[in-house]
Amino acid sequence: MTQANPHPSYVSIHGGHSGDFCNHATDSLEDIVQAYIRKGFAWVGLTEHAPPVTDAFMYPDEREAGLDAGRLYQRFATYIKTARKIKARYAGILDIYVGFETELTSGALPFTRRLIETFQPDYIVGSLHHVDDISFDFSRDDYLRAVVSLGGHDNLYCRYFDQQYELIETLNPAVIGHFDLIRIHDAHYKTRLAKPKIADRIDRNLALIADRGLILDFNLAALSKNMAEPYISANILAKARELGIAVVPGDDSHSVDSVGRHLDAGINILAGMGFSTNWPRPA
Ligand SMILES: [Zn+2]
Ligand SMILES: [Zn+2]
Repeated sequence: MTQANPHPSYVSIHGGHSGDFCNHATDSLEDIVQAYIRKGFAWVGLTEHAPPVTDAFMYPDEREAGLDAGRLYQRFATYIKTARKIKARYAGILDIYVGFETELTSGALPFTRRLIETFQPDYIVGSLHHVDDISFDFSRDDYLRAVVSLGGHDNLYCRYFDQQYELIETLNPAVIGHFDLIRIHDAHYKTRLAKPKIADRIDRNLALIADRGLILDFNLAALSKNMAEPYISANILAKARELGIAVVPGDDSHSVDSVGRHLDAGINILAGMGFSTNWPRPA
């Protein structure tokens, strides 16, 4: 019989985007780390966004800031260096893992492999924010453009989960970021996720994740964007539970304010569904 953990520790397996290294985040990385310490976290994974492969895959805010892929690469190198310094500075106070969050665009798989070889992160979060090179989560307009370009919502979902499979198979990320992010901006996601051709792909991806012993990020940022539930949605969580996949909270913090936001709610959902709250670490 397993003993319920009366006080699950505070952790974030996907956090620490900062204004130092991300155009849509605020506050310094060190201030954010200090917020994790103030809130009593046991450990945190810093997982800044990977740089784009080329200028074509920059986000509008990066373009507006006059950046280019080369400068974003340099900024990423500085991020890794800074995060390692901060990790050493707070050793014994907060366990910090220095990682990054992937993208999946043309050329991103070999590019990410080179990033891993060059920067030797503690782990990576495998995430997609594009489908067939079209950004879908930056804005509702982007999402609609992706729906039209892919020939409808169903196709967009299918392609997302196919590309996610490819990413997991190729990069073997320790953590899968916001597994069902593709439902962002879709009011009808619940029925859509249950459609056989989409549900089959979800089952296939979960089976691969279970087989490889990878961890799912329970992404709480959704709750700050007026979503009814975090990524992953309840039906998919139930499948993950059945397969024995570990699910660990990620606050996806992008500021001091968002450190640990909705963490208690997230822990309650996971504990209520029977997940272990003895959180496995990403590395
Ligand atoms: Zn971000
Ligand atoms: Zn993300």
